[in-house]
Amino acid sequence: MTDQEQRLRIAVQKKGQLADKSLQLFEQAGLKISRGANDLLYRAENFPADFLRVRDDDIPQFVASGACALGIVGENVLQEDLPDLQADTVDVARPLGFGQCTLKIAVPNEMTYDSVQDLAGLSIATSYPVLLRQYLSERNVAASVVEMSGAVEVAPRLKVADVICDLVSTGQTLAANGLRAVDTVMNSEAVLIRHTGEKTLYPEDLIARLLRRIDGVLATRETKYIMMNAPESALDDIIEILPGAGSPTVTPLAGEPGQVAIHAVCQESVFWETLERLKAAGSSAILVLPIEKMML
Ligand code: ATP
Ligand code: ZN
Repeated sequence: MTDQEQRLRIAVQKKGQLADKSLQLFEQAGLKISRGANDLLYRAENFPADFLRVRDDDIPQFVASGACALGIVGENVLQEDLPDLQADTVDVARPLGFGQCTLKIAVPNEMTYDSVQDLAGLSIATSYPVLLRQYLSERNVAASVVEMSGAVEVAPRLKVADVICDLVSTGQTLAANGLRAVDTVMNSEAVLIRHTGEKTLYPEDLIARLLRRIDGVLATRETKYIMMNAPESALDDIIEILPGAGSPTVTPLAGEPGQVAIHAVCQESVFWETLERLKAAGSSAILVLPIEKMML
């Protein structure tokens, strides 16, 4: 019998928000991934790694069990699944700077909301019962949690629940359903997770080599200077969308009352997604420029 070459198995989302960017990260790290006939498993041609393509909800379990050495998943999904996983079998190896989204509480437009205490006695529909229950119990709020696997935003209209707790990116889905976001339960991004259980199924040196390459990719991602015009009233929304931008510079536009120019330093890794969200929030004339030198 010949020695089989030991290969890393890496769990990635098959289809959805994280699917393309997950594979791109490994490609930027130099892996040639052949999208072969086997839809479930893609193979890297020039590195001993294979990509298991699954639903994102299954990824924490695949890594915790050791079936995969590494995986990429939204931090929201990891945190939601943690209580179901055997302790000390998985940890976050690297935050990846894409897949940003926010888990929010949203209420019907006509409902008054001053603080989280207003949720007491209400029913809240969500696909994230673990995260929501943690949020409520940390604030000593007694509310009932209605678990739904999707289409959470229609729950108040259908009288399935009073309010919702759901992932929000532009807020458009909320608006279309007569809802408004009032509180943040969690800010999330994609993370690289690693198996940390007893049985070391994979060679450490191979994982270390891959992590070094990924660190290289993350470090060399260029920052960009982003400029746009927007109604001053949209400023809060826009600042929330700009990731890691610190305090942007805001100046009035001559001859256009109520309009401002916004300048900020932003990460390229969220560039297109960010642009789309900025536009949806009311920005126009959005420009993105490379930064040649920067001193902080
Ligand atoms: P699956 O079929 O794999 O179960 P899904 O429908 O549960 O997919 P997606 O909508 O593809 O999941 O989202 C996957 C993850 O991407 C989410 O858990 C979240 O971390 C992140 N995400 C969700 N919405 C966005 C968004 N608009 N922009 C960026 N990232 C997002
Ligand atoms: Zn899912």
